This record gives sequence, structure tokens and C-alpha cells, in this order.
Amino acid sequence: MKQKYIFIGPPGSGKGTQTKMLSKDINLPHIDTGSLLRESIASGSEEGIIANSFMEKGQLVPISLVSKVIKKRLLKDDAKNGFILDGYPRSLEQAFALDIILEEIDNDKNTEPIVFYFDVAQEKLIERLVNRRSCSECGAIYNIKSMDIKDETTCPSCGGRLIRRDDDTEEVAIKRFETYFKETAPLIDLYEKRGQLVKLDASLDIDTIYKNLTGAIKENVNI
Ligand code: AMP
Repeated sequence: MKQKYIFIGPPGSGKGTQTKMLSKDINLPHIDTGSLLRESIASGSEEGIIANSFMEKGQLVPISLVSKVIKKRLLKDDAKNGFILDGYPRSLEQAFALDIILEEIDNDKNTEPIVFYFDVAQEKLIERLVNRRSCSECGAIYNIKSMDIKDETTCPSCGGRLIRRDDDTEEVAIKRFETYFKETAPLIDLYEKRGQLVKLDASLDIDTIYKNLTGAIKENVNI
């Protein structure tokens, strides 16, 4: 049986950190539309220029572009046994587009994705976002306030350069929340009605969230 997971939650809810841990443990690709779009910006492609004009305002990139990027990624060989989608779908329109994409390309149409919702109060999140740094080498994510990091520019794990994302400023973070509540939050209802939703308390510490996540997965499938 193919393992398909979708992670939904507001910006800064810790989806990325948990997906990285799970992806490594169960050897499934971590498919994160935000990173795929940032890669296309870095490559200087036409698609990247269009994506950047929406991302810098905290808005969703048009669905035609995102569908193209995600379909191409899901067709790669490493996704044939399953995948973890982080930050996609992000609107009802994208959820229905994903249904169609999976209908077209999926080699296991009988298994529905399990959708994990990272539930956390908004107050904590803006602070988490503006203090977030990620390593440009190994991709590790840090919070410079809550972690004991002596040098805020160097990754304590691999020595790579720590960077702050362009859209992790307070101004853009507020816009991203508005977009989340308007566009993404309705997905919670959709997947709940379909019986696919598992709610996780994302205000807990990283290891406890991961224990709850993997516990829920074990209840559903034998990993
Ligand atoms: P993230 O890295 O998930 O926080 O995403 C950063 C930005 O990329 C978002 O604020 C959006 O502008 C864009 N983005 C990421 N995923 C999507 C998506 N599924 N649909 C549209 N825009 C997206």
C-alpha cells in the first residue's frame, strides 16, 4: 500500500520540521511547494519570476503554476511508494486539482492520503516566524530565540550559513496568515468530512508532536 500524507497548518506551525523527520525515518520524499518555488526563483526562470511576485506579498502563487510544479514532482521515481506533501494543497481549488492529478498519475488510486492538521494558536506563530532561520547547507531549521545558538549566522550542526527567508518579515508574515485563514483553513472541513483528517496539537514540543504523529500513522498503516 502506498503511503500518502498531507500536512496542513498555518505558517510556522512546525510542519516543515516534522516532515523532515518523518521523511528521513520512513524514506518517503518531502515535497514542499514553498521550497520548490524558491528553487525556481533561484534558477532565475520565468516561472520563478512570476512566483516571486506573489510570494513577496504573502499571497498564493497561481494554481496553474503550482499544479504544474507538483505534478512534475509527483511523477519522479522516488514518489512511487508514497510522499509527504508539506504546504500543498493550500486552497479548496488546489485540493480538487490534487484529486484530479492523483486520478491521472497515481499508481495506487485506492489509498486516500491521510491529512495531518497542525493545530496551534496564532499568537505564538508570528514570533516563531520572525525568529526562524534555516541552514543554507543542510536545511535544518532553528529558532534563534528559543535555542542556545551562540552565533546566529552559523549552523550548529554542519557549520553552514544560517539564513532568514525573505518572507519571514513581520509585514509579510501577517499577510501569509491572512491568506492562510482565507484560503487554506477551509481544507480542514473538507478533509474532516471526507474522514481523512487527523488533528495534532502543534503547540507541544517537537519530540512529543513527532511521537503523536508517528503513533497516528502506526494506527492507520503498518510501517
Ligand atoms: P512556505 O514555504 O510553505 O511557507 O511557502 C512560502 C510561499 O510560497 C507562500 O507564502 C506562497 O506564496 C508560496 N506557496 C507555497 N506553497 C504554495 C501553494 N501550494 N500554492 C500557492 N502558493 C504557494
